[in-house]
Amino acid sequence: MNKLVSVVIPAHNEAENIAVIIDRIEKVLANSAYRFEIILVDDGCTDNTLQIIKDLAAVKKNVFYIEFSKNFGHQPALKAGLDFAHGDCVISLDADLQHPPELFEQMLEKWEEGFDIVYTRRKEDKSLSLKKRKFSLYFYKLLNSLSDVELEPGTADFRLLDQKAVTAFRAFKENDPFIRGLVKLLGFKQYAIDYIPDKRFSGASKYNLKKMRSLALHGVTSLSVKPLHTAVYLGFTFSFISLLYIPYVLYAFYIGKEVSGWASLIMTVAFFGGLQLIILGILGIYIGKMFMQTKNRPNYIIRSTNLKEAE
Ligand code: UDP
Ligand code: MG
Repeated sequence: MNKLVSVVIPAHNEAENIAVIIDRIEKVLANSAYRFEIILVDDGCTDNTLQIIKDLAAVKKNVFYIEFSKNFGHQPALKAGLDFAHGDCVISLDADLQHPPELFEQMLEKWEEGFDIVYTRRKEDKSLSLKKRKFSLYFYKLLNSLSDVELEPGTADFRLLDQKAVTAFRAFKENDPFIRGLVKLLGFKQYAIDYIPDKRFSGASKYNLKKMRSLALHGVTSLSVKPLHTAVYLGFTFSFISLLYIPYVLYAFYIGKEVSGWASLIMTVAFFGGLQLIILGILGIYIGKMFMQTKNRPNYIIRSTNLKEAE
């Protein structure tokens, strides 16, 4: 029996893209040495994405869908696909055709060579807005300086995972998984392929700056507790600086110099007030994560599916 490749595609309002992406995947895999299945995750779509997928699934035996009960987000949608994929390997990609299916061939080649994880690196993309490119660059810089997991710039959720890696990934029971980071944590033999992303085929990006900011914060705080250490370092630094101030205060007192200093006082109070709020905020984020994790809520809820094991 030929090896089975599962293709997982999270989709949120991607009606115009579904038929095209399936077509392009079929072009790549239909004449290959592999059997393949396509699992589309309908992440609370409000357009007719689901109907289009269902119509296709009715005529194509290897097209499956998972319909969520509401919008849970890109990462949970991807997780659902990985949870139910049967393949000897699983390839995940976006529904908007920014991730070209034609790259599958190269990914599968590397997989056959013995790599367990073949991930992709987006090369500088002029079609992305400058804001987004800059954000992406700083996102990875910040992430890497604050975290113990080294993530490379331009790595998105376009990758091939061997079944071994998928099984290992399923064991992560995180409340709000940051899949990019977790995949890096998995280890295994990883290989990177550079590619130039295409333009979004149809529809608009679901990641605005606000969503990206929250993904960045989530990325840092879900992979590392280093931000908590900043409190300790800052505490030490400022204690030391204030120690240096003591001799001056004593000296001023000794020579009877009037302590004027309203401006410096108010500045110090405001500065430390702000600093304490930041540190409290960082603490709060982690406590919030613990709170959410202790509830042990499911990452997603399935409303309907044509996958037997997901019913
Ligand atoms: N997506 C999703 N749920 C969401 C937002 C996005 O499943 O709440 C999917 C979306 O359909 C696409 C992928 O995640 O397949 C990446 O989203 P998008 O293309 O909007 O992000 P960008 O490429 O602009 O970063
Ligand atoms: Mg996109």
